[in-house]
Amino acid sequence: MKKLTIKDLDLQGKKLFIRVDFNVPIENGKVSDDTRIQASLPTINYAIGQGARVILASHLGRPKGGPNPKYSLKPVADRLAELLGQPVKFATDCVGTEIEAEAAQLGNGEVLLLENVRFHAAEEKNEENFSRQLAALCDLYVNDAFGSAHRAHSSTAGITQFVSQAASGFLMEKELEYLGKALYNPDHPFVVILGGAKVSDKIEVIENLLKSADVLLIGGAMAYTFLKAQGLPIGKSLVENDKLDLAKQLMEKARARKVRLELPIDHVVATQLEPVEGIRTVKISETAENEAGYDIGPETVEKYRKEIGEAKTVVWNGPMGIFENSNFAHGTMEVARAVASIDATTVVGGGDSVAAVNQAGVSDKISHVSTGGGASLEFLSGLELPGVKALTDK
Ligand code: AMP
Repeated sequence: MKKLTIKDLDLQGKKLFIRVDFNVPIENGKVSDDTRIQASLPTINYAIGQGARVILASHLGRPKGGPNPKYSLKPVADRLAELLGQPVKFATDCVGTEIEAEAAQLGNGEVLLLENVRFHAAEEKNEENFSRQLAALCDLYVNDAFGSAHRAHSSTAGITQFVSQAASGFLMEKELEYLGKALYNPDHPFVVILGGAKVSDKIEVIENLLKSADVLLIGGAMAYTFLKAQGLPIGKSLVENDKLDLAKQLMEKARARKVRLELPIDHVVATQLEPVEGIRTVKISETAENEAGYDIGPETVEKYRKEIGEAKTVVWNGPMGIFENSNFAHGTMEVARAVASIDATTVVGGGDSVAAVNQAGVSDKISHVSTGGGASLEFLSGLELPGVKALTDK
């Protein structure tokens, strides 16, 4: 079902509540990385341009349901004002009669940022009364916080029951468009690259992508559960021993669906991580008992690069190794460069893979860098996100 977008709303003179994702790092009272604020500017600027009275709400960190200056959004108001080139009013709370009065006093095109919604425990419990209080601030609702859309909280879901129209913002729309196209209507070959620490985090994603992908390239620590399930030696590499049967089942399902599930053939191992000792590159079959694998090896990089080179759609989530350590970053960087070099729809999601494409300096060559790690994984698992479901049908 198609949902309303901000363009479907008549915003002139309306009090518009926009749920944004301003969950940004703060250092010494200042925003140290404003990527997420920048990402919400198209929606905010559009609302201002349409003459809406703009009320912004977000969470920041995990303040555990009470006010905590460490998690105040005040520094975000300051940075946002600089980016917008206009004043941003800051409300010291997000609900209550005083805040309602501040919202009501806004002129057309003016902006008010509410204090962290998670200063109220009711937010994460999606409590009806709190949702009503948030809704009392506004006439219309827009959700542009894709990264929080997999949570049914008051500001992402509950509030929509008490407003006349709830629509997606531009960032939300872009996320849904790219992820939706990859998942439901991909150009083939569709290559999915999965890495990171655990298979258990990605079981549903693998199961669901087996329906539409042509090739699955597995790297990172999660590969070792599959390799061990095949009877290969993996030394002390990170493994989920309770998921070996599941790994076997996933490999069988892939075979039955004629999806190629590819695993590393070589890797970079070490006998100790910090300080690093005994680094060498070996075939998986030659791994010694006292060694652990921390990156995919050059033969695997070459094999994966070829697969990526043929792709018309790529979805990538999770690093190929401990890329935070320069000794083990090569595989992840090469995959980032390979994904960036092709003429195809490429979608990268998950904090680490996003950091990797930034580190490789190629993020502008990716079709879509997803802002929501958990949300994009849930979406790729085929689940309906509560924050999307809650929006008004077209
Ligand atoms: P995830 O949050 O599941 O995407 O996992 C990301 C983390 O997995 C990163 O911090 C990586 O350092 C880590 N990781 C990737 N490959 C390995 C590996 N071979 N051994 C240990 N940790 C790894």
